Amino acid sequence: MARKLAAGNWKMNGLEAALSELDTIAAAIGADDMPEVAICPPFTLVAAAAERAKGNLAIGGQDCHAEAAGAHTGDVSAEMLKDAGATYVILGHSERRQDHGETDADVAAKVQAAWDAELSVILCCGESLAQREADETLDVVRRQLDGSIPEGATAENLVVAYEPIWAIGTGRVAEPPQIAEVHDAMRAALRERFGDETGKAIRLLYGGSVKAGNAAEIFATSNVDGALVGGASLKAGDFLPIVEALG
Ligand code: PGA
Repeated sequence: MARKLAAGNWKMNGLEAALSELDTIAAAIGADDMPEVAICPPFTLVAAAAERAKGNLAIGGQDCHAEAAGAHTGDVSAEMLKDAGATYVILGHSERRQDHGETDADVAAKVQAAWDAELSVILCCGESLAQREADETLDVVRRQLDGSIPEGATAENLVVAYEPIWAIGTGRVAEPPQIAEVHDAMRAALRERFGDETGKAIRLLYGGSVKAGNAAEIFATSNVDGALVGGASLKAGDFLPIVEALG
């Protein structure tokens, strides 16, 4: 079984001074028996973060373009992230799907670009509150997984994060039975599509208002292999207890 993963998504937060949080995290997770930890800062900090992480800590981007290079003002390619020292990239986050109109097909093209650049992908999916209330959660997540993951997924190049939109940044965390229902369905879908061995080994993260106080209960839930943490990843003091709960 692959190591569990605690990933931090800094979103559009973090100036240079925030890099000292990485030093604290990198120092605390030196031991091999700890879970894997990845921090995804904004693009502007990726190279400096990778330098500071000293190999203990994986660094990721929060998006990439579907093409490797070209006339796309303001965009960053997977190859550039790799070149800056990233090993992960978050793709298909609901904030990108909402703010930038990213479709499943757009996300799938970005996943392929990330794989071509030898980055591992943290692929996000999750339903809105309206979709949950209409009892569409499993269909929505299934559609996102089918549409956003190209052929060729492996346990090394793909991590899937279930992030119900209504739980992101709201303080309203999904209940363990709600998480288990979706994670069990995602596991079944991945086994069906990529074979038993790969489908079982792809790590499934929960994301949405994870913090020190609820992490242990979430990590005890069926088919949860870690967390994608937003707000509580910005300060080492908030994030490290989550990493410890996973270990
Ligand atoms: P949150 O964000 O932990 O602040 O809810 C999670 C995410 O959007 O990845």
